[in-house]
Amino acid sequence: MTERLYYTDAYCTCFSARVIERVTWDGRPAVVLDRSAFYPASGGQPADQGALGGVAVVDVQVRQDDAVVHVLESPLPKDGKEIEGEIDWPRRFDHMQQHTGQHVLSAAFGRVLDADTVGFHLGTDVSTIDLNVPRLAPEAVASVEDLVNQVVWEDRPVSTRFVGSDELAALPLRRPPAVDGPVRIVEVSDFDVNPCGGTHVARTGEIGLVRVARLDYRGDETRVEFLCGGRALRDYRVRSAVVDQLATRLTVGYWELDQAVERLQGEAKQLRSDLRRARAGLLKVEVAELYETAAPQGTYRVVQRVWDGRDPGELRALAQELTSRFEVSVLLAGVGERTHLCFACSEGVELDMAALLQEACAQLGGKGGGKPHLAQGSAPATGLARVRAVISDLM
Ligand SMILES: [Zn+2]
Repeated sequence: MTERLYYTDAYCTCFSARVIERVTWDGRPAVVLDRSAFYPASGGQPADQGALGGVAVVDVQVRQDDAVVHVLESPLPKDGKEIEGEIDWPRRFDHMQQHTGQHVLSAAFGRVLDADTVGFHLGTDVSTIDLNVPRLAPEAVASVEDLVNQVVWEDRPVSTRFVGSDELAALPLRRPPAVDGPVRIVEVSDFDVNPCGGTHVARTGEIGLVRVARLDYRGDETRVEFLCGGRALRDYRVRSAVVDQLATRLTVGYWELDQAVERLQGEAKQLRSDLRRARAGLLKVEVAELYETAAPQGTYRVVQRVWDGRDPGELRALAQELTSRFEVSVLLAGVGERTHLCFACSEGVELDMAALLQEACAQLGGKGGGKPHLAQGSAPATGLARVRAVISDLM
């Protein structure tokens, strides 16, 4: 239906063609051409982008009858049937680097670890292959990476051709073909033979650096994220910048980062434990001061205090320390982004602090609850004076 120019020449970026059909695809204008260099989304490789007669091509798909449908940003002008097409070459070349890199990587995983590729996805940022193994040792992955990059440095030819079923049966295919009839074969010289309809570089040297970026274990399979060529370079650049920046901030060489971070973590741990101890000491002093200045009421004293911005945890710690050491009833509040309340009384004090808290919450428009000896709540932020007035009216 459409002669696919990329089958025989993946480096063809400009071409002229005849419009043989104008259609609508997912509500957008689209055309079918008699010949095209645009790669349609298939086999794990995304569609090309570019322009037809100056109109942006936003997607390329294969229709059921095998026609290549070019989805356009706006309709093509009606005049003339012959148009010029141009594909977005940097995008296409990136896809070629990743796709040929994938063939070499899959073959290397097969050779070194006897792991078969059962899935491939060429993504916008990273590409993945799925291997039929549950785990991979880091050293094994490094030796696969070594082999792949060796094949890149050897700059081996990569060729494509269509073969019939007789020849196909004699080829050492990595994977059986998914289609009937003549099958397109991609061959990395003396390394890999695989059926594939994708676009590939002419020599392995063009793939550039190949790097396994991440492993993701998913049951019986392992997903391998990898980067080739320009993507590997950009990744190296970003990582180097991060590492250099961290090393500068910590005033160490990048090779000393590990120890520097370990030292920082040790210091932070020590400081946290010092702080915890200091806070516990302060709490005891503060609690004694609060009790000393509290008003007596029969057999116990009433501690009422409203602070600017104390969190619920602090209020609760103060209330618990007070009620466990003294015969008291405690009404504490911290006013910040919200008003936090904590009411409590000692075991021997016969009061229902939960009921008092409900009353305070009703007046402040908040919510809360608890037991007769300890109740907590919160309300929308309001002035300190207002909270003080509500609390002192309770007892
Ligand atoms: Zn392929």
